[in-house]
Amino acid sequence: MGEQVFYNTCPAAGCHQYCALKVLVEDGKIHKVESADYPGNPAARCICVRGLSSAQVVYHPDRLKYPLKRIGERGEGKWKRISWDEALGTIANKLMELKKKYGPESLKVQPGGSSNVGLIGMSVGSRFANVWGAGGAFTCGLWSSDGGIPAASLIILGVGWQGHDIQDFLHSKMIILWGWNPAETALWDMKCILDAKDKGAKLVVIGPMFDATAAKADQWIPIRPGTDAALALGMMNVIMEEGHYDKDYVAKYTVGPFLVRDDNKLFLRDDGKCLVWDEKADAPKPHDLTNSPALLGSFTVKGVRCKPAFQLLMERVSQYNPEKAASITGVPAETIRRLALEYAASKPAAIKMSHGLARTLNSNLGCRNAIILAAITGNIGIQGGGASTTQTGDGVSPPFPAVLNNREIMFPAGAPGTKTIPGTTNLMKGWAAIRDGKPYPIKALIISFQNPLQASGHIDGYREIFSQLELVVVIDIFMTRTARYADIVLPDTTIFERDDISLSGDYLIKMEKAIEPLHQSKPAVEIWSELAQRLGLGKYFEYTTQDYMKIFLDSKHPYAAGITLERLEKEKIVRANKPLASTIAFPNKEFPTPSGKVEFYQERLIELGEELPVHKEQLESPRTSALAKNYPLTLLTVKDRTFTQTQMANIGWLREINPEPMLDINSVDAQGRGIKDNDTVLVFNDRGRVKLGARLNEAVPPGTVNIDHGWWPEQFAEGHYNDLDHRVDDLSTVIPSLDMEPVTKDFFATAHLIPWDCLVEVKKF
Ligand code: SF4
Repeated sequence: MGEQVFYNTCPAAGCHQYCALKVLVEDGKIHKVESADYPGNPAARCICVRGLSSAQVVYHPDRLKYPLKRIGERGEGKWKRISWDEALGTIANKLMELKKKYGPESLKVQPGGSSNVGLIGMSVGSRFANVWGAGGAFTCGLWSSDGGIPAASLIILGVGWQGHDIQDFLHSKMIILWGWNPAETALWDMKCILDAKDKGAKLVVIGPMFDATAAKADQWIPIRPGTDAALALGMMNVIMEEGHYDKDYVAKYTVGPFLVRDDNKLFLRDDGKCLVWDEKADAPKPHDLTNSPALLGSFTVKGVRCKPAFQLLMERVSQYNPEKAASITGVPAETIRRLALEYAASKPAAIKMSHGLARTLNSNLGCRNAIILAAITGNIGIQGGGASTTQTGDGVSPPFPAVLNNREIMFPAGAPGTKTIPGTTNLMKGWAAIRDGKPYPIKALIISFQNPLQASGHIDGYREIFSQLELVVVIDIFMTRTARYADIVLPDTTIFERDDISLSGDYLIKMEKAIEPLHQSKPAVEIWSELAQRLGLGKYFEYTTQDYMKIFLDSKHPYAAGITLERLEKEKIVRANKPLASTIAFPNKEFPTPSGKVEFYQERLIELGEELPVHKEQLESPRTSALAKNYPLTLLTVKDRTFTQTQMANIGWLREINPEPMLDINSVDAQGRGIKDNDTVLVFNDRGRVKLGARLNEAVPPGTVNIDHGWWPEQFAEGHYNDLDHRVDDLSTVIPSLDMEPVTKDFFATAHLIPWDCLVEVKKF
């Protein structure tokens, strides 16, 4: 048989680019993977080393080949090969037993994740959870590494995910990439950014490491990790004190004019309506009945002293002049001053926040302050502006992917649905719930395409939590660190061995099965369906993959109009029925907040002292933590182009590029410790230690060390960097703002990873 061409998307899509791929097959074997064209947009064609190497995932000798049952202790690595019949029968019997004893919510399902590309593969696990009546606290999207960003956006702008299409950068005079390294992790986005730069936009990168994106920038702002809130405050200080804020915008679209009472810090209300001071009438008025509200000053209304929220903001930022911000951030005061003035003068200017901004304890303060910075300069809701979150959307309609995550598939009619853990729709209280058995016992966990024991931090904590579970099942392609702690491991297919649909930017891609499943692997749809049959739930699982695809495409979302399965099968890659103009967030400057405005003043956060922007040190600060005496170095775990999250660590071609884990350490810190290039070193703190080689690297600032994120435990001489991390089972105990109303409603916003908030010491071994 000659060469056959199949279309698909990249399996390493934790970078969220979902590049369209052509999979070339000869004699039933994939021999090459290359980029595919996007109809009408040839410039969008993209592939990186991970995509190019993706066939090596399929033929990897270490792939899980058949179901396995644990015969030793959890984590001991002793397994017995069993049949699918025995595996699914064992799981079904145990689930029935647990349901009888503890109720259906005693099962939690974690379906999908970065490696599980494909809309159907991700949804069918949720369908199973809802049909079974399992709790909803462990759905996909947990362990979100950028949760601080949607949490901040929810608080200030009323919606978690919002922002401008990447192509909108072409309209920007200045682009600030805050905590993002797309040159390594998101190539298509980087291409758009460079196009905007070629068109004249000034590119500024804010982040502690001189990375590949910083190397392409006009200006790199090296910042002490976890101090972004202070940098934004310093910039606001310059902009406000020198009068470069957008007065009309602040008056019209923010709570800036709202009067705040001196006595209780609440907005001054009359008949439920917030009052402002009308400058023309020199009297208080409801905020919607005047066009001339005061932004500054102090007033007395019926004996109550009050000030506009903007006046309070001015007073707050006056505490953070550039010199003060410099002392916190390590960014020179003059640099802060210049950056602030340039940003204010460069309208429209875009801020794009990403994961690097969101991985310390108080990171949502930094994200909030970046959004406020954009608001006071009038950059929100305008073409070329914005303070975009990692996932974008116009802030008004549900994002396209959310609509395609069709509720008909996840919540079939008649299914009992979920019983969430109160106060969260996500993991925030989940681990603590398993540990404590409250509010109800959780005794079984089925994890599909997730690797929480590696991705989420300190292993000992999770090992202890796993001991509360009577059944742990992992569905995956490889024996991950999490799979090692399972009772039963089931081999999944790769995306080249099954059909599905994926969403790549504005395009839908038909993911085509290119080869038959290798070994005894099965697609997720089959695994969940067969398990459901054994549990008497077969009537909910009579659909084929083709049926599910039709349901998806019948989403009624205007963007999917006219895209039938027949069309997708014929054309392979179809542009969503979407206007060509790029999406911008809040085009009408209407915000889904309680006031309808940008809420930089937060009554809900008065108790936490966070009603106004503020900087708070991270959990383990080299400045304020008692631990810093023994552990003076901040540990980063940044992303490298050869990994996607914890995937691809075992792929040969990629390991030729980045062969082994190394500790990046600045020569200043290395010399002080007698460490030379390639020396073996121990990185340690009270929680654990990891042994690896040292790489003297001036791209890492003094006081900070880095180990690239994604390496597997067996690749270290000893330990793993996660052994150094925190163990925080219930994040709301350390980040109280996660417990507030708008945040707890959001799937992602309640999940935070805070592994970068971690102090260590290094010594030569
Ligand atoms: S890893 Fe990301 S950028 Fe690279 S090919 Fe895959 S989807 Fe594209």
